[in-house]
Amino acid sequence: QAKMAGKNCYRFYSRTMDLAIERRVRMEHDLRGAWDRGELSLVYQPIYRTRDRVLVGAEALLRWNHPEDGAVAPSVFIDVAEQSGLIENIGLLALRNACAEAASWPVPPGAGEPPFVSVNVSARQLGSGDLLRQVAGALQQSGLAPERLHLELTETAVISDEANAVALLGRLRQLGVKVWLDDFGTGYSSLSHLRRVQADGLKIDRSFITDLLRDPDDLALTSAIIAMAHSMGVTVVAEGVERVGQFDLLRERDCDLVQGYWLGHPQSGQEFTALLG
Ligand code: C2E
Ligand code: MG
Ligand code: MG
Ligand code: MG
Repeated sequence: QAKMAGKNCYRFYSRTMDLAIERRVRMEHDLRGAWDRGELSLVYQPIYRTRDRVLVGAEALLRWNHPEDGAVAPSVFIDVAEQSGLIENIGLLALRNACAEAASWPVPPGAGEPPFVSVNVSARQLGSGDLLRQVAGALQQSGLAPERLHLELTETAVISDEANAVALLGRLRQLGVKVWLDDFGTGYSSLSHLRRVQADGLKIDRSFITDLLRDPDDLALTSAIIAMAHSMGVTVVAEGVERVGQFDLLRERDCDLVQGYWLGHPQSGQEFTALLG
């Protein structure tokens, strides 16, 4: 009996795994030509200055509209793209397109300077040895001023090959590009790390903002991150602001920039341009 159950169990797991692998293989296959077929696009989520709630920039986020499955979650297809190496090409196309689009954005009322565009860069791109050239190329082709381009890197991507990353980020900053650490607080975040990387900004992960109003630990941590970042001249962005109460609290704690559904959802380039005007 036990033996039978064991066998069934084994069969069950093996079947489930087959399906998972099958699904990944199919997704990788479909993703390969997705950009050329026009299935991949960028949306822009507005980022506001907390102090006066003036629109100052946007984060570019990839979307995949699969012909049969519809919208595929970025957390799913970005992972497949990263595992397969496809992210190197998709990431480059995202970078070029975001720069080209942002180059024509008007100065929003009250902002005083043209809006920035923030582009996510994966660990794979960071380690490819080609990122500096690609960024310089995207800036040149689009005519976007370098300081209007922000690159978002996760801490884990930077830590996995720190010596190489620190040197590369130094060169990117020499171009004038700003470097932000994404999902800050979820990895091995340390302030010495923040200093070595010389990040211009950090994005406090949504998981800290979600319970900001209820959980005193999250509030304490968020406040501490803001204070320490400021003591090092680092800009702080809070992501995942969904309620006015969170916004009020972040303003009170002097958080520089905010992003989240309460302020604005990711939207098409056309909608975002209209929002700027
Ligand atoms: P991320 O860089 O941390 O982006 C923020 C995510 O939080 C986005 O999810 C955004 O839509 C979501 N978000 C923003 N405000 C709120 C809010 O108020 N509440 C909630 N619940 N969510 C909010 P999205 O677009 O699904 O992207 C997920 C992740 O996929 C991104 O996380 C990023 O790591 C990755 N990703 C997206 N586009 C790119 C890309 O072009 N290149 C790379 N390498 N990664 C990308
Ligand atoms: Mg990001
Ligand atoms: Mg993030
Ligand atoms: Mg996140």
